[in-house]
Amino acid sequence: SSPSTPIRATLFPGDGIGPEIAESVKQVFRSAEVPIEWEEHFVGDQIDPRTQSFLTWESLESVRRNGVGLKGPMATPIGKGHRSLNLTLRKELNLFANVRPCNSLPGYKTRYDDVNLITIRENTEGEYSGLEHQVVRGVVESLKIITRQASLRVAEYAFHYAKAHGRERVSAIHKANIMQKTDGLFLKCCREVAEKYPDITYEEVVIDNCCMMLVKNPVLFDVLVMPNLYGDIISDLCAGLIGGLGLTPSCNIGEGGIALAEAVHGSAPDIAGKNMANPTALLLSSVAMLRHLELHDKADQIQDAILKTIAEGKYRTADLGGSASTTDFTKAICENLIRRT
Ligand code: NAD
Repeated sequence: SSPSTPIRATLFPGDGIGPEIAESVKQVFRSAEVPIEWEEHFVGDQIDPRTQSFLTWESLESVRRNGVGLKGPMATPIGKGHRSLNLTLRKELNLFANVRPCNSLPGYKTRYDDVNLITIRENTEGEYSGLEHQVVRGVVESLKIITRQASLRVAEYAFHYAKAHGRERVSAIHKANIMQKTDGLFLKCCREVAEKYPDITYEEVVIDNCCMMLVKNPVLFDVLVMPNLYGDIISDLCAGLIGGLGLTPSCNIGEGGIALAEAVHGSAPDIAGKNMANPTALLLSSVAMLRHLELHDKADQIQDAILKTIAEGKYRTADLGGSASTTDFTKAICENLIRRT
């Protein structure tokens, strides 16, 4: 699109702190004059029979039509007869890869200063296939499904991502020494794809060794690609390396190029409605969305303003040891945007 035509994107403010941090994103986008027009969709209070969940069919259609969206945390109401909100999104939109950039935030001290890695998690199968049953009393079985199709798809995405972002190395994380068939197939697919990318170094790292290396020296890694369960665990480990869930963004990639960015954390009911939430994770997720749209100037501008505000240390939310409210922190980011331009 030309810069004058706004790009439509779906926004799910979500539950709990979701609306507060979504408001922060809207405000920062307005200040930065990002050419995005939000189509807001809310989680319904009744089950939509077309989705079997509280998410409406219209909201899913909106993401399909726009191809991009941003999602706040969603708390699935307890009760029978409906699907989890996050699972509905993942299945209906075929969100096959979860991409989590993990970068040290300058000025916010953790054990490491120079973490700069990306985890790419297969999002549709593995141990999350929902195939568990009791064989006989006292014995249960869970099926781990690995398919060539899903493995090739996520490996392709990882190498494509590495190339597009000037990254040098892709590490496939596995336990193929024990899970010979399943992880073995996953690795075979990664190797096949690696051959098509001779400029990118490819390596295979066993998951246990990977954990040890990550906590000892995360700089050893660049892009990591892995099956579902390993991705779940490793991506949280990586979030811990840079200061926790309030800071980590992610982006879900779906079939046909759909990108649905989301903060990794939940709806934080303990602080909802108190103007205390840290909007950084959702803001950085919105930056990931802008990068997906190749609006790199706006993405850089917003990212710099967030990092600058955190580094200055004057306005920080309680989770980062400060006392600023969500709105004060957001205002400080907007001011840092304005000063830059
Ligand atoms: P949570 O991430 O909501 O909260 C864990 C702790 O982190 C809380 O103390 C909370 O106050 C704090 N926290 C989280 N995000 C923060 C932020 N941005 N700023 C400051 N503090 C923050 O996890 P939970 O309590 O286990 O889950 C609450 C609800 O969220 C549940 O209903 C769960 O199902 C849902 N959930 C949704 C998603 C999602 O939509 N992707 C992910 C995880 C949990």
